Amino acid sequence: MVLSNYVTTFGQDLLQRYGKRVHKLTINAGFTCPNRDGTKGRGGCTFCNNKSFSPNARCLVPIATQLAKGRQVIAKRTKAQCFIAYFQAYTNTYADIEYLATLYNEAVAEPDVIGLSVGTRPDCISEAVLDLLVSYQQRGYEVWLELGLQSAFDDTLAKINRGHGFAEYQQAVKATRQRGIPLCTHLIIGLPGEERWHNLETLARVLELGVEGLKLHPLHIVKHTILAKQWQQGLYQPLDMANYVSIAADMIERTPPEITYHRVTATASTDILLAPTWCHKKWVVLNAIMAELHHRGSWQGKTAR
Ligand code: SF4
Repeated sequence: MVLSNYVTTFGQDLLQRYGKRVHKLTINAGFTCPNRDGTKGRGGCTFCNNKSFSPNARCLVPIATQLAKGRQVIAKRTKAQCFIAYFQAYTNTYADIEYLATLYNEAVAEPDVIGLSVGTRPDCISEAVLDLLVSYQQRGYEVWLELGLQSAFDDTLAKINRGHGFAEYQQAVKATRQRGIPLCTHLIIGLPGEERWHNLETLARVLELGVEGLKLHPLHIVKHTILAKQWQQGLYQPLDMANYVSIAADMIERTPPEITYHRVTATASTDILLAPTWCHKKWVVLNAIMAELHHRGSWQGKTAR
């Protein structure tokens, strides 16, 4: 079984559009987050690992070095020839615009980097940031904005201390789509107090606003987080794998086929992951999602409106 037989994967989409394997290379540019420095909140989202938080909004390891390391590993594993620089850690639009341009320019200066993917929060999208991203599009780069939403329910967002609501996401989507920048929204399955219907309603609201890409992942409990304390006190229980797989399959089959899934599961490194331990076996989870869709005689978009 191959995932792309059931799901429109981003990897397959890139392969078709570029005629060669393109892979994301993750970058930690040492950003901060307004949900930690007091601008929006303190302490961060309840699931966000404090230990790896860098209080200095300046790059720790040069971007070219990070890309070189990632390239070596990924090219060997996937035979990818071209890469998208993925500014992943923390809030990658949370700095002055000149500094952002310096970092993004460093990434695209590598001859095999064909694009940028920038992860951020819905309340950290300014006109200047969108203008900057459009400028890379105009130079022919593949550009994506990745927005962490997690849930469309304000009470859930308050519970996990996101420091923003669904309204900020709506505004960010409107502004991003007006500029024609492709958007990938991150959603979490298994948030505190949420059940299957919350995930399906969140997906419906995201689809209604418009999106080009999606990422799904299970809520991880990692060390040095508020969520870890809640779990240790018995205040939160993670989903089991069967439920995760079933909810992910429900979401996939409700998603129109033209939307690309950049990810349908995720894990955290074993040195910090506390639970659920099943999510560390990425291929087991992926195979289970494929098997579930196969068993249902289903695929992405089968029940999309
Ligand atoms: S918005 Fe992102 S970086 Fe900031 S606290 Fe939440 S998960 Fe961590």
